[in-house]
Amino acid sequence: MKCPKCGTENEEGEIFCVNCDWKLNMKYGGEKMAVNAVYFSFAAVIMGIISLVFAFLVNVPIVAVITGAIGMFLGGYTQSFVRITKIGGPIKNKLVVIAIVGLFMSVIGFVYAFAHLTF
Ligand SMILES: [Zn+2]
Repeated sequence: MKCPKCGTENEEGEIFCVNCDWKLNMKYGGEKMAVNAVYFSFAAVIMGIISLVFAFLVNVPIVAVITGAIGMFLGGYTQSFVRITKIGGPIKNKLVVIAIVGLFMSVIGFVYAFAHLTF
């Protein structure tokens, strides 16, 4: 079975690629996914910042809750997403860190704003 990631021919029944350890039944994302991962990680940060601003500065909790929720989704999703793209090495790690920062800010904005939400 041909590895979707590196193209190495693996023996039938093999679960992981002998060359790169990729799980052979898992699709490998292309350039488009790599570009999306970059957008997603930055979007998570932007959502996190908006969430924090609206939670602590502007004091409009509902906006902070919504942007925080989106940021948490984007940040969490990007982390798993980045792993299956063609981005390699240090850039991948940076994107994961950016996504985590976005996720973290979003969580703070979301939780703080949610606690101050008045119905
Ligand atoms: Zn491989």
